[in-house]
Amino acid sequence: MDYKDYYKILGVERGASTDDIKKAFRKLARKYHPDVNPGDKKAEAKFKEINEAYEVLSDTEKRRKYDTLGPNWYEQFGPSASGGSTGTRRTYTYNGAGTGTGARGSGSPFEFDPTGSGFSDFFETLFGRGTAGTVGTGTAGMGGRPMRDDLRRRAGDDIEQPVEVSLQEAYSGGTRTFNIQSTEVCPTCQGIGEVGNRTCSTCGGNGSVPRNKRLQVKIPAGVDNGSKIRVAGEGQPGIGGGPRGDLYLVISVKPDAQFERKSDDLYVDIDVDLVKVMLGGEVTVPLPDGRKLLLTIPAETQNNKTFRLAGKGMPRLRGEGSGNLFARVRVLLPTQLSTRERELFEELARLRGVEAVS
Ligand SMILES: [Zn+2]
Repeated sequence: MDYKDYYKILGVERGASTDDIKKAFRKLARKYHPDVNPGDKKAEAKFKEINEAYEVLSDTEKRRKYDTLGPNWYEQFGPSASGGSTGTRRTYTYNGAGTGTGARGSGSPFEFDPTGSGFSDFFETLFGRGTAGTVGTGTAGMGGRPMRDDLRRRAGDDIEQPVEVSLQEAYSGGTRTFNIQSTEVCPTCQGIGEVGNRTCSTCGGNGSVPRNKRLQVKIPAGVDNGSKIRVAGEGQPGIGGGPRGDLYLVISVKPDAQFERKSDDLYVDIDVDLVKVMLGGEVTVPLPDGRKLLLTIPAETQNNKTFRLAGKGMPRLRGEGSGNLFARVRVLLPTQLSTRERELFEELARLRGVEAVS
């Protein structure tokens, strides 16, 4: 059994980042894709090899295990340690329906037979056959079985784009237009990065060209820091007719000068004149969308007294209703007293036995 140099197969350094590995894989997968090379057995074998290398190097666990292999790998992971399959026929059902993200997402459920794995003995010795959903099945030309769908058709990567919204937008929701930057498969080289062994001049060998798109996206009321808004099909392009990935707008809410937010609750300070806190009365409480509420405060309301306005906070992104709005009273002490006002305060001082400076 031959040792397989997965790094060499993908043409990347041993220390390559996940991104570099992904890029290299996508380029090679496009180049050797069976749709591009119909009937070419060499290309098909290469395509299979590339997929196997990617299967290992794109998976942190598998990559770590693979990286620990030294010259004695066979002793460590040889057949005696593999608990190998005896070749009994078992049929795994793998539901490839794509609800989420990732490389799969091919549509209808299908069955495959793990005894006819499309990956090498080396791979199976290391990682076994039982990893349903990740081990490939037979390829076209190997007993006539079709190559597994998700090797041929891969969905593109998802993109995350940070988006900053104001508290008011988060409160009311709304529609925003964004410039989305993703990529498109280079139309000149079809994503391979070269044309006739020369670097493609359209994309500079990248295999992709920038794609800018203006998109109107609805921002639901109640979004908070870290909320993700999914825009289906606006991610990176797929391979072999696979769908584009999705775009996720990752929300951060700008701090607001007036309102403080704690989860679904809002806190706001309201300035109330000294006379009104003493006598009681109606005060206005602002909302993030500019509206105002009337709040009746009782006589002798104290400084920093907080009133809860139930259901007037942030709308709940999931679930019903809204959080609370907490209005904290800050007593406004009067300035520039008129003569008459000063007389009244002096009278008040005598009444309460307070010594005034005259
Ligand atoms: Zn190109």
